Amino acid sequence: MAHAVIVAGGSGVRMGGSRPKQYLLLGDRPILCHTLDAFLNCPSIADIRLVTPESDAGYCRTRILTRIQNRKPIRLVPGGVRRQDSVRNGLADLKERVDRPETVVAIHDGVRPLVRIDDIERCIAEARSCGACILGVPAIDTLKMVDAAGMISGGLPRETVWCAQTPQAFHFETIFRAHQAAMSDGFAGTDDAALVERMGVFVKIIQGSRLNLKITTPEDLALAEAILSSSAFRH
Ligand code: C5P
Repeated sequence: MAHAVIVAGGSGVRMGGSRPKQYLLLGDRPILCHTLDAFLNCPSIADIRLVTPESDAGYCRTRILTRIQNRKPIRLVPGGVRRQDSVRNGLADLKERVDRPETVVAIHDGVRPLVRIDDIERCIAEARSCGACILGVPAIDTLKMVDAAGMISGGLPRETVWCAQTPQAFHFETIFRAHQAAMSDGFAGTDDAALVERMGVFVKIIQGSRLNLKITTPEDLALAEAILSSSAFRH
C-alpha cells in the first residue's frame, strides 16, 4: 500500500479574501474535502498526512474532516513557511510508519480537487516500478522566456515542454533523502520532482488531465465550479 501527503499549509494570498483557498467552497463543500475524497477512494492509498497551518488544526477537525467519508486514517501535520517545508514535515511524520525504503508516497496539492482517481493510481503504479513518477500535461501554448523589463528573451521548444502537476509519487527513501539534501544545501524547488532530479534520479512524467487544475486565483475557482457541475466530469 502507498501513503499520501496532501499539502494544504498555504495562506492562499493570490486568491484574496481572509480564508485560505483550500477552505473555499467548491460546489457544496470546501475544496479540500474534494481532494481528500479523491485519495480516500484510491484503492492503493493506506492513509493520509494532511498538512495544514498549525493554527487551523481545530478548524480542519470540525469543518473539513467531518464532511468527508472518512474510511482511512488521516493525521493532521503542522505546515511550514514554504510548500517545500510543509512537504518535509509531512514526510517526517510519515517516516516511522514506513517499513520499506521502496514504499511509495504520493504528494499532492490540497488545492487540486479535480484529480482523477485513475490518474493517482497510474502515477503510484509507475512510481512503484521506476521509483519516481509525476503527472503532467504537454504544453499547448507557445512558451516564451521574459526578462524583468517584460521583453521576450528566448523561447522553449514546445514539443519538449510539459506542465508538471501533482500527485508526484516516489519511493519514500528517495524523496525523504532529496528533501533532507535540499534543506542542508539551501535549495528551493517549486515542486518535489525538482528536488529528486538534482540528486541525479530520473523522474518519469505521465499524462494526466488538463482538468486537474491548481486552484490559485478566483478565475480558477470559477472554472473548477463549471467543470464539477459538467456532466462530463467524474473523479
Ligand atoms: O503556493 P502554491 O499555490 O504553489 O501551493 C500549492 C499547495 O501547497 C497548496 O495546496 C498550498 O496549501 C500548499 N502549501 C503548503 N505550505 C505552504 C505553502 C503552500 O502546504 N507553506
